Amino acid sequence: MTHSMNPPVNNHPSAQGGDEADLMDGTIRLAHGNGGLLMQELLQNLVFSRWEGVDTGRDATLLAVPPGARLAVTSDSFTVNPLFFPGGNIGSLAIHGTVNDLAVSGAEPHALTFNMILEEGLAIADLQRALAAADAALREAGVQVVAGDTKVVPKGQGSGMVFITTGLGWCPTPRQLHLGKVQAGDQILVSGAIGEHGTAVMLAREDFGMSSDLLSDAASVLPLTRAVWDLPGVRFMRDPTRGGLTSVLHEIRHATGLGVEVHEQQVPVRPEVQAVCEMLGFDAMSLACEGRVVAVVAPEVVDEVLARWQQCAQGQAAMRIGEINRSGQVILRTSLGGQRFLEPLEEEPLPRIC
Ligand code: MG
Repeated sequence: MTHSMNPPVNNHPSAQGGDEADLMDGTIRLAHGNGGLLMQELLQNLVFSRWEGVDTGRDATLLAVPPGARLAVTSDSFTVNPLFFPGGNIGSLAIHGTVNDLAVSGAEPHALTFNMILEEGLAIADLQRALAAADAALREAGVQVVAGDTKVVPKGQGSGMVFITTGLGWCPTPRQLHLGKVQAGDQILVSGAIGEHGTAVMLAREDFGMSSDLLSDAASVLPLTRAVWDLPGVRFMRDPTRGGLTSVLHEIRHATGLGVEVHEQQVPVRPEVQAVCEMLGFDAMSLACEGRVVAVVAPEVVDEVLARWQQCAQGQAAMRIGEINRSGQVILRTSLGGQRFLEPLEEEPLPRIC
């Protein structure tokens, strides 16, 4: 559905200088989702004034696909709690998360759909803050919102705001990053320190009664993926979000039947993250990142990938952390010289982290 985000072409209730200040003092009402005047006013002020890529002249926006390219499509939903956390908010997270799934697939992000499920009683100023952050993330990635939808649910039946996105990008056909390309002997790289998003969001929840200066790592990984995706030895990339590095390693094992060995000492973890994990009994390997890349690469391009990443602002702590073998297991070589199986996650340690 795109039409409910599209204002009538000739009737923008507040386009002629409506009461934006009044609007921002208010809260979301059920009528903001009913397709009528209030909804048009809200969307005009908060959405269409920023996002000009939505073609309001028809119910679907038409996009040109470059000749020879494949269309890359990814979809995501964002329910993070709290909505605002150190280093980001649900708006920036939604854009970065969607852009990142395109980026690690080797696609050049181009456009997004952006759906909002708002809870009655949400402060419109909070919505505005989240959308401003989304906007900044869109501009950074050079991506336009081209369609969307807005619904309002009654108070108590939502969680403030939920954003649902679909990302569209172009993938030149020769670029074939895929789990199926991974081979024994390949090396595993990570672009930066892990677990900062999970830790920052967790600490922002009052129930832990702890505070820290730690920021979420939520960011676009496009500079990192663009820097290396022309190298033929780059086989596969993934952004380690929910379930963290542990889940990516198990996905590799599961999809390939091969094994993975990771050297604990080489995995970059900030001392603040390590300290929180030790206090609360979490494993940094399983905490979410929102601005990191795990890459599986041929041994001959390890140095080149690391060198290119380390030239990016976000890749300075990039490390080689392990290798692919034929063991069929995910094994962690510990700092003390031992080894242990890295178990896949069963329970959800941190619900609503993204
Ligand atoms: Mg992903």
